Amino acid sequence: MDERSRALEAAHRGATAFLATLEERPVWPRATLDEMLATVGGPLPQDGVDAATVIEQLAADADPGLVGIPGGRFFGFVIGSTLPAALAADWLVSAWDQNSGSAMLTPATVALERVAGQWMLELLGLPETASVGFVTGCQLANFTCLAAARHAVLARAGWDLADRGMRGSPPVRFVVGADRHGSIDRAARLLGVGRAEITVVDSDAQGRMEPAALERTLEHGEGPLIVCLQSGEVHTGAFDDLAALIPIAHRNAGWVHVDGAFGLWAAASPALAHLTEGAAAADSWATDAHKTLNVPYDCGMAIVRDPADSIAAFRTGGDYLVYTGLDPWDVTPELSRRARGVPAWAALRSLGSSGVAALIDRLHANALTMAEGLAAIDGVQVMNDVVYTQVMFRLETDEATRALGAAVLAEGTAVVTGAEWRGHAVLRCAMSSWVTTRQDIERTLAAVRSLVAA
Ligand SMILES: *Cc1c(COP(=O)(O)O)cnc(C)c1O
Repeated sequence: MDERSRALEAAHRGATAFLATLEERPVWPRATLDEMLATVGGPLPQDGVDAATVIEQLAADADPGLVGIPGGRFFGFVIGSTLPAALAADWLVSAWDQNSGSAMLTPATVALERVAGQWMLELLGLPETASVGFVTGCQLANFTCLAAARHAVLARAGWDLADRGMRGSPPVRFVVGADRHGSIDRAARLLGVGRAEITVVDSDAQGRMEPAALERTLEHGEGPLIVCLQSGEVHTGAFDDLAALIPIAHRNAGWVHVDGAFGLWAAASPALAHLTEGAAAADSWATDAHKTLNVPYDCGMAIVRDPADSIAAFRTGGDYLVYTGLDPWDVTPELSRRARGVPAWAALRSLGSSGVAALIDRLHANALTMAEGLAAIDGVQVMNDVVYTQVMFRLETDEATRALGAAVLAEGTAVVTGAEWRGHAVLRCAMSSWVTTRQDIERTLAAVRSLVAA
């Protein structure tokens, strides 16, 4: 066998061996970063090594520092596992090595991504003519959509950003909710919108923007306007009332952007679609496939209602780039990139629309089961309305809550992560993994129960 085939076989063995340990290994890593640096670090040796040997050593050395993210009991942050078809497709993507920015260069992967984009628009109930740009994640999707938004609202105000730049441009009013995701602020910062230029609208106890507060905010001020709304708050899972909020922003000639990293997927479930009602009226949407859809990192989508708005912001003038209609690189800030949308195509094809709906419903049902089980533990308080996949809970004091969070990680059965909500320490449990079973939830509840009792 040649070196490449032996290396690929070693990778296959290493991957399946790792996946086989997920059921029993502690979910939190056994090694620290410093221990991992000691294992894999040191000066670069002068002589090379056979590829299969490199891969075997890599798999063995990394193992103690790996997190059980693809298993059924990782509930930290909002992170998904990986569906079998998506994982295997991801391997093909690397083997194919297609630079997927251009339709002329890589027709197979561009077609697969285009179809994946169409399927997603349909599932999410968004306009079928929107542009879908595949980016690394929802952070970049927020950035990409907001770059298109800024370009468009300035163009409507008679200012050509590509030509004249930001200096001297009409100020853009940038309006966000109090419980927006931090990636919105970072996207704004990268776009040259400072903290002092952001207007924050009050939200309610679950983190939903108050329509009356948005109305009041927009009464004052004029000029180019961007309003950022949210489907799926990371602590509570709450959804902004898009049907009420989007018309208010549009009456004020605003561009509406929706950050729906994991929440927009509620639209794919007939039982939960009411949560995103009204979403289709927005002007741009950012979402992830690597969270709720359970594909490997990196896979976010920047969706813009009018493709002309993405093209105006992103098409390059490089004359070596052959124009062949709408190219992937026309709608995102990137040129060369892997075919990151192909695993999303494979995930969608393996599930079918009914499978996607069933996945979302199961994640929601898991959240309800977890919340019910947690609430039944003496001293545990569930803090949010569990409308979707997020469960937020705490013990009586901040100190006890933080201690419980640390104890869960050390005990190893599951991972939940700590956060702050309205000035209180909380723990968050996100149901994002297709792998999670009722038994995983019961094992987790049993572990939390005995840690709380101790
Ligand atoms: C996760 C998340 C993001 C950032 O997405 P990445 O894929 O981590 O870049 C943005 N907004 C919300 C609401 C999120 O949950």
